[in-house]
Amino acid sequence: MAGKRKLADNPDQKERRWSSRVQELRQKKVDEKARIARERLKLLSDKNSKLCVDDTESHAEEDEAMLVSPERSSPLTLTKTEKGKTKLDFYADENDAHLKVKKNLRFFNTQYLLMVQAKLSRPDLKGVMRANAILYSRKRIGDLPGIDVGHRFFSRAEMVAVGFHRHWLNGIDSMGIEYKREYSDYQFPLAVSIIMSGQYEDDLDNAEVVTYTGQGGNKLTGSKRQVKDQELVRGNLALKNNLEHKVPVRVTRGHQCQTSYSKKVYTYDGLYQVIKYWAEKGVSGFTVYKYQLKRLEGQPELTTNQVNFVGGRIPKSTSEIQGLVCEDISKGLASKPIPATNRVDDPPVPPSGFTYIDSLKIGPNVKIPRSSTGCNCRGSCTDPNKCACARLNGGNFPYVDLNNGRLIEPRDVVFECGPSCGCGPECVNRTSQKRLKFQLEVFRSPKKGWAVRSWDFIPAGSPVCEYIGVLRRTDDVDTLSDNDYIFEIDCQQTMQGLDGRQRRLRDVAVPTDIKVSQSNEDENVPEFCIDAGPTGNVARFINHSCEPNLFVQCVLSSHQDIRLARVVLFAADNIPPLQELTYDYGYTLDSVHGPDGKVKQLTCYCGAIKCRKRLY
Ligand SMILES: [Zn+2]
Ligand SMILES: [Zn+2]
Ligand SMILES: [Zn+2]
Repeated sequence: MAGKRKLADNPDQKERRWSSRVQELRQKKVDEKARIARERLKLLSDKNSKLCVDDTESHAEEDEAMLVSPERSSPLTLTKTEKGKTKLDFYADENDAHLKVKKNLRFFNTQYLLMVQAKLSRPDLKGVMRANAILYSRKRIGDLPGIDVGHRFFSRAEMVAVGFHRHWLNGIDSMGIEYKREYSDYQFPLAVSIIMSGQYEDDLDNAEVVTYTGQGGNKLTGSKRQVKDQELVRGNLALKNNLEHKVPVRVTRGHQCQTSYSKKVYTYDGLYQVIKYWAEKGVSGFTVYKYQLKRLEGQPELTTNQVNFVGGRIPKSTSEIQGLVCEDISKGLASKPIPATNRVDDPPVPPSGFTYIDSLKIGPNVKIPRSSTGCNCRGSCTDPNKCACARLNGGNFPYVDLNNGRLIEPRDVVFECGPSCGCGPECVNRTSQKRLKFQLEVFRSPKKGWAVRSWDFIPAGSPVCEYIGVLRRTDDVDTLSDNDYIFEIDCQQTMQGLDGRQRRLRDVAVPTDIKVSQSNEDENVPEFCIDAGPTGNVARFINHSCEPNLFVQCVLSSHQDIRLARVVLFAADNIPPLQELTYDYGYTLDSVHGPDGKVKQLTCYCGAIKCRKRLY
C-alpha cells in the first residue's frame, strides 16, 4: 500500500524535500490518470464487484460473492506505470530466493492464524501445509537458497513450512532411498539437517565443533531423560553415512527466548561435517550414539551461541542503555516509555522539533462523520454470524485472539468495533485500539537519520503503532513548509488499484460513505492526510524499506468514511528484537516532480537485497 510522503530523515537529503505534491501530479498527469481511473471504475462496476455500488446495506450472501481471488482481481492490478518499475514488479519477482522464503513464511503465518481462528489443532496445520506449497518440497543436501547462515526461525513449524527441516519433533531430518536418483553415489539414509536444542542431557555445544547425541531412547517431553538404549538406525544411521560419504549437514541451534511467542528461537548456524561417531553409556546409564561435527570453513562467522540479536543485547533497565539521549520521547503519553539513543552524532543530540501526541488531532476544515451503527454484541465479539462488524469484514473477524490480537492478513480495510458497538474494550475486533504493547526505542542510524526498533519480539500480524498526527485536507498541506511527515490516506485509491498501488483481498462490504465519482478527476489524489510534522507519535520516526517488516493497514472504527480511515502499522513477519522496523512508503518511481516539473530522485539506503536503490 502506498501512502507515506515522508523522506528519509537525513539532513543531507533535506533540501530535496518531499514532494510528489498533489499540485504537480495534477498538472502533469491529470488527463492520463483520469483516463486510467475511469477505466478502472468501469471494471470495478462490473457484476463481480460491489465496491462502487452505492447500496448502503450489507447483505450476508453478497459478502461471500465478494471474496475475490487474486487471479480475478489481477486485471485491475496495475503492474507498470507510465515509466519505470513499481513495487509490484519487484514483489512479483519470483526468482529471488529470499523473497520466496519470506513469502512462504508469511503464507505459513496466515495459515497458522486461520487455523487458530477455526480452532483446529496442529496436525490440521500439517495437512494445510502439505496440501499447499512447502517451498522446498524435495529435500536437499547443503544450503537452501534464501536461507542464509544466521537465519532465524521462530518455531519448528516454520522450518517444516519452508522445507528446511521436515520433522516436527525429531532432531535429525534425513533423506531415504527415494532420493537415490538425485544422489546416486550415496548410501541411504543421509542426514540433511539437525537441530540442537538442549533436547539431550549429554549434548556438548562449543559452536565450531559440536558433539551431538543421536536420536531415540529419550522422553520427548518433560524430563527428556534417556529411558532406553539408542540404536544405530534411521537418523543415527544417517549421520554415520554422512561421515562415510563426507556429506555435510545443516546445523540449527534452538534457544530459549522468553519474548518469542513460541518461547524458542532457532538459528541456522551453517554446514557441518561429521568427523567421528561412537557409542557410549550416557549420564543415565543407557547407550547413546555421539557424533562430533565440525563447522565447514569459509562460512559467515557464527553470530550466536546464545540468543544475542543483531545490534547487541536487550537492555534490562535505562542505566544499561548505551547512548541514551532521552528517557521517554513520549513524556509519559505512551503506555511504555520510548527511549531515544544516539551513538552516531558527536555530540549526541536527542530528536527535536516536534511535540509528542498520542491520539489524532483534527485539523481545520476536517469534519469527522458521526459514528456508524455498530454491533449488538455484549462483552466480546465472538460469533461472526451475529456480529454486524464481522459481517462488514466479509463474514469473519480479521483478528484472532492470540498474543493480544493478531491480524490474519492485510486487507483493503479493517472494520473494527467502535463507540456504538455493544462490546467492551477487550473485544478482539478492537485490536488496533488497544495500547502500545511493545517496548520501542528510537535510535539514530548512520545513514537514515532516526529509526525505530523493538526490544520485544513482535509476532506477525500484531499492531505496532498507529500513524498519529494532525488530520488535514491534502489541499491545506501544500502551503506548509518543509514537512517530511505527511501520510496521505489513500485507502480508497488502494482499493481501486489506482496509481500502481497494490490491491488486497477485496473482502469487505461497501463503505457507506465512500465517494466515487466518475467525473471527478481528483479521485486519484487522496483528499486527507495525517501530518506528523510538528506533532506526532513514534510512527513518524519509522523509515522506509524496499523489503519492509511492517505493512500499512487502513482501519475504520468510529465511522465508515474510508477517506478518513485510521492508518495502523502491523508486523508483516515475526520480528526479532532490535531489528529495525520499516514499512514501504510506496512511492512509484518517477512519480515525484519538483516545482520545475522535472522528475525528482532520492537514493534509498534501506539495505534490502532487492532494494530499488531509489525511494522515488
Ligand atoms: Zn466488538
Ligand atoms: Zn460485535
Ligand atoms: Zn462491533
